[in-house]
Parts: sequence; C-alpha cells; structure tokens
Amino acid sequence: MRTIGVIGLGNMGRGMALSLHRRGFAVIGYDPAPGAREASAADGIAVAEGPRALWQACEAVVLSLPTPEVVEAVLLGADGPLHGAKAGDAKPGLLVIDTSTSDPAVTRRIAAALEPAGIDLVDAPVSGGPKGAHAATLTMVIGGSDAAVARAEPVLAAMSATRVHVGGVGAGHVTKLANNLLCAAHLITAAEAVRMAKDAGVDPERLLAGINAGSGRSGVTQVNFPTWVLTGAFDSGFTMKLMRKDVRLAESLIGALALDLPLSGQVGQLWRDSAEVAPDDADFNAIVKLQLA
Ligand code: NAD
Repeated sequence: MRTIGVIGLGNMGRGMALSLHRRGFAVIGYDPAPGAREASAADGIAVAEGPRALWQACEAVVLSLPTPEVVEAVLLGADGPLHGAKAGDAKPGLLVIDTSTSDPAVTRRIAAALEPAGIDLVDAPVSGGPKGAHAATLTMVIGGSDAAVARAEPVLAAMSATRVHVGGVGAGHVTKLANNLLCAAHLITAAEAVRMAKDAGVDPERLLAGINAGSGRSGVTQVNFPTWVLTGAFDSGFTMKLMRKDVRLAESLIGALALDLPLSGQVGQLWRDSAEVAPDDADFNAIVKLQLA
C-alpha cells in the first residue's frame, strides 16, 4: 500500500497522519474544520476539500472521528465510498480502518453494508493519547477478519507500538469500551482512595508510591495521577466529552446485552452527573475533582 487517507485530523488524527507520512506513505487528509486542515497542511500533509477524493485515490483510509454517528455518516452517507459519481468509484479493494472509539453494533452494521462492494472494515481503536499518535507508539485493539487485519498490518504498524487482534469486526470496539469503562471507574476509585488517605494524613505522592508497589495499582495510579492530576496539569488531550461518550457507549452495550452490572451503572451515573465540577471541554482526568477539588 502506498497512498493512505486520514479522515478526522483532530487531536489523534493529525498525529496519525504525520506518523504515516514519516514512514513513507503518501497521505491525504480530510477534516471539515478549516483549522484542522491548516494544521495538517503545515505538517506537510496533502489535504482534500472533501472525502470523495480519498475513496478514489487511497488503498486504505484511516478514520479518527468523534462519535459512531459521525463514522456512519462518513461511510454510509452521500459522500461515502458507496456513493461515488459512478458505481465502483472507490478504489477496488479499499480498506477502511476505524481508529475512533465507537459502537460495535454500528461498526458491524457498517461492515455488512460495505462488504458487497468489496470494501473491508477493520476496527482498531487506540490508547496512548495525542502524544502516542504523534510518536507512533499507540496501543491498538483490533477487530476484523484475519485476511483484512493482515492487509492492514503495515498501516497499523506505522501508527502503533502494540497491537492485539481480539476477534472479528467490532471486537476491537467492544474491547476498547471495556478498557475505557475500567479507566473511567479507576479514576473515581483512585480519587476516593487518595481522598481517604489524604484526610487520614498521608501525602498523595507517598500514597501513590505505596499503591504502585502493591496490588491496588492501575494505569490511573501509575500514569494519570502522576502525569495529569498531582501536577495539576490536566492536559492529556482527551476531553470529558469524549470519555462521557465512551462510558455512554459501554452502558448502552451493557443494556443491549440485558446485563445487570451495578458498579458500572454507578460509574456511568457519576460521569453523566458531574458536569458542574468537570464540564465537557475539561480534561477527562477532571472527574477526580468529585473528591479532590
Ligand atoms: P477531536 O475532536 O480532537 O477530533 C475529531 C475530528 O473529527 C475533529 O477535527 C472534527 O472536525 C473531525 N470531524 C467531525 N466530523 C467530521 C466529518 N463528518 N468528517 C471528517 N472529520 C470530521 O477528537 P480526538 O481526541 O482526536 O478523538 C478522535 C477519536 O479517537 C474519538 O473517537 C476518541 O474517543 C478517540 N480517542 C481519543 C483519544 C485522545 O486522547 N484524544 C485517545 C484514544 C481514543
């Protein structure tokens, strides 16, 4: 593969486009926001005025979009790969790689709609934030057929350091929702533990050193607290709005499966009802302010 499209040039997509460009792919980007297009153009990325040019020119198109609704509109809408000026407008054998955190049911529905046109979909949602996207050190959890994932490998490898193929199409999104549900819960439980210890007279930094040497540690105690919470930086590049979306998607998956998961329900409620201490445009680590104002 030589020419790769990137649709959605935001915090994550901009870095992914740059990583692909640095590894020698010809990259064409698209984003409806002029500021995002300008920033990628300044990085040396060719930018298109609409997505149609990408379906025609690229062997693979990477998506980094905010919500499942936007992913569906981009892939199945009037400017999507199924609706070219003439039938077969998209490049034959086009591969779509969705790195957005999205809804597995929507992903499977889109994959089924694209399949008759010979377009494969691989879901490869990511962890690692804008820094990881820029440095090509992301972790990906991947859903797709063995053949499609093998075809996607050179493109995925140019953007990530760790890849885990977890199952068929949609399985990446299921895994990512499980991961982010845990992260959302860990932020709350870690904040409660820090609050308890602080009020009991233990310094938070010393507390974390103890926890991180013990069995209560998590990514949140090892990375989020030292990097973004205790420093007061709150600048991870991942917003409350996006994490609220992920928690909402996990809750709707739990609902669709008719499961009774009480702690997950409570986590969902705390994320939903915390706009006063942590508005949508705040860093997602701001949820700790429920306990640590
Ligand atoms: P972002 O809001 O910074 O970027 C999204 C981009 O999509 C924006 O530039 C927006 O203009 C563009 N967009 C919106 N509608 C579009 C359309 N119809 N066509 C093309 N582009 C469109 O979001 P982000 O932080 O880059 O996150 C992107 C995805 O990655 C989300 O699904 C998010 O949940 C996930 N994610 C983000 C992070 C992070 O740390 N930021 C980490 C892991 C996963």
